[in-house]
Amino acid sequence: MEVDIACVGLGPAMGGFLTTLSRQLTAADGTSAIESRAMPGMPAQVLCYERADDIGFGVSGVVTRARAIRQSFPDFDPAQIPLTAPVADEQVLYLLDPVGASRRSGVLRLADRAIRMLRKLLPYEREALALPYIPPFLRKEGGLVLSLGQFMQWVGGQVMASGSVQIWPGTPVAAPLFEGSRVAGVRLLDQGTDRQGKPDANFMPGMDIRAALTVVGDGPVGPIGRQLDEQCGLPPGHHRREWAVGMKMVVELPEDSTLCPGTVLHTFGYPEPEIFGFLYVYPDRVASLGLFVPSWFDSPVRTAYRYLQHWMLHPYLWRHLAGGRLRSWGAKTLLESGRRGEPFLAGEGYARIGEGSGSTNVLTGSGVDEAWATGVQLAEGVLELLRAGKPFTKENLDAAYVARRRGSWVEAEARVAERARDGFQRGVVPGLIGMGLAGLTGGRLALAGRSLPPHNRIPSLEAYYAGRISSAEIAQIRKECAAQGLSLHDTLMTRSGWPAIPYDGQLLVSHQDALLLGGKVQAPAGYADHVAFLYPSLCEACEAKLCIEMCSGQALTPGQTGVPAFDREKCVHCGACQWNCAQANPTDAERGLIEFQAGTGGLHSAEN
Ligand SMILES: Cc1cc2nc3c(=O)[nH]c(=O)nc-3n(C[C@H](O)[C@H](O)[C@H](O)COP(=O)(O)OP(=O)(O)OC[C@H]3O[C@@H](n4cnc5c(N)ncnc54)[C@H](O)[C@@H]3O)c2cc1C
Ligand code: SF4
Ligand code: SF4
Repeated sequence: MEVDIACVGLGPAMGGFLTTLSRQLTAADGTSAIESRAMPGMPAQVLCYERADDIGFGVSGVVTRARAIRQSFPDFDPAQIPLTAPVADEQVLYLLDPVGASRRSGVLRLADRAIRMLRKLLPYEREALALPYIPPFLRKEGGLVLSLGQFMQWVGGQVMASGSVQIWPGTPVAAPLFEGSRVAGVRLLDQGTDRQGKPDANFMPGMDIRAALTVVGDGPVGPIGRQLDEQCGLPPGHHRREWAVGMKMVVELPEDSTLCPGTVLHTFGYPEPEIFGFLYVYPDRVASLGLFVPSWFDSPVRTAYRYLQHWMLHPYLWRHLAGGRLRSWGAKTLLESGRRGEPFLAGEGYARIGEGSGSTNVLTGSGVDEAWATGVQLAEGVLELLRAGKPFTKENLDAAYVARRRGSWVEAEARVAERARDGFQRGVVPGLIGMGLAGLTGGRLALAGRSLPPHNRIPSLEAYYAGRISSAEIAQIRKECAAQGLSLHDTLMTRSGWPAIPYDGQLLVSHQDALLLGGKVQAPAGYADHVAFLYPSLCEACEAKLCIEMCSGQALTPGQTGVPAFDREKCVHCGACQWNCAQANPTDAERGLIEFQAGTGGLHSAEN
């Protein structure tokens, strides 16, 4: 099939692109403003393919300044969209460790002791210290808390109502169509295959969609972006070594909740000092809450789920959450390399937008607005080229899109953020100091730190627990867990002092129950598995099996041969296994041994 523009992924970046583009494709009298070159006589043909079964499934609850979003919708009324509220009150909290199990450095222990001693003089309450000052770069004043799921459904509805763009959910794109160095469109995923991708009953090869321009907005771990990176490489000096897995819940707050809509809480310090938490309050007693486990968290015990429960049980938060109910749950990876992880933004026949193009700003903690803005910038450039009848060459896209992006606030703020988090490579305290320095000096000062791919920095269990649990005991625990099918990280956390989670069946539920209660994993038959182990023999020999220990959905388990078994009915498509492999790929040391390919399914909830 031949179209004018083929788009991959419908997140906020593509929302910005399609909103801006669709408004200009039709003239005021309803006729087409730009004629199709693929189908002369017809209006321009623009198709957008989204992997998830519907628009806005499987993304995240956010707080955003919404500058770019508001520019696209000057009359934006938050009341039009469920689970949306203007930011009303912001707090940043340092959480002390109320259970004594958190792995704290000497400096943090001293700080905790000093805070407890001086608590009567400080803004201290229930083992938490509220920072008296939130630096301007972190503030979201005038912004919005919103459910991206609900917001994207609203955006998708408007784009489709324009009549000038088609959106196809449930349609994963498998690969870019390369013609030499040019991208000539995309290939959709084969249907009617077995789990290895071999033709089965009702086999239908993925259709080729040829397009003059392919717009790639498939997010941080998108397979199309990754294939482009493989083919084109990254610009010199750029790499993608900083990631985080964000796990979140949508919670119905208890009836007597005193939290007002628009409340924004950000936390650090607990359950481990490296883990950041957030709680955003929507209208009608609903909140989105969760945490981020970053790639520089040097622990092989890095499951987000149990940490999330300990975080919720922190006394400062639990008094707001006790009696609440889990409505929805999910996890997703963030690309935190920012500008340093930026790929080539445009090439022959293609352009990249959104988080996969390095737009997320780790200093301001903002990804949605930046993604949206890059989509708008590309649309403005594309309209300019379409009106001038110019082809989508790299040169033209660089001039029309990349130059716009370079001249915008997205670029200016990305430069300030570029070195802001380097200090975290040396620990939490240098990290926080580095962020403060970079933020307050406009990026002129920062603390240095050497970043490494996760597989080069994550210690072994034995090294991590040295002095606390002996190697012999770890070996014994490993054996027992394997024999009883128990999770190793859970057992080790309990052994190292983390209390058992007091399950209540409505908010504190087991990891498996969260999959059932918090949404529905769709994993239709007839498609290849999207998680693939590239070097089974290396996995067999891998002792760490980090991918299993950190899997957000318990979709990876010890397989019979030593290669992890993948159960896609449990996979929430967070993509974190891709960067949480304990070994380097023999052909590319920047990558691990898992490939996260195009696939169907994932956790389905428009509340996320
Ligand atoms: C837990 C969590 C909390 C966050 N909180 C905030 C916050 O408070 N504020 C903020 O500003 N940002 C926040 N972010 C970051 C923000 O969500 C991202 O920066 C933003 O969603 C990026 O938008 P995007 O359009 O580039 O990509 P995405 O939102 O990732 O969208 C990409 C889309 O592409 C689709 N796709 C992928 N592969 C394919 C394929 N092969 N074929 C078809 N479709 C495909 C995906 O299904 C998805 O819909 C948070 C992220 C997480 C995980
Ligand atoms: S994918 Fe990586 S972490 Fe998982 S078993 Fe294989 S080598 Fe080990
Ligand atoms: S297998 Fe699925 S749920 Fe598990 S880490 Fe990978 S993408 Fe996330």
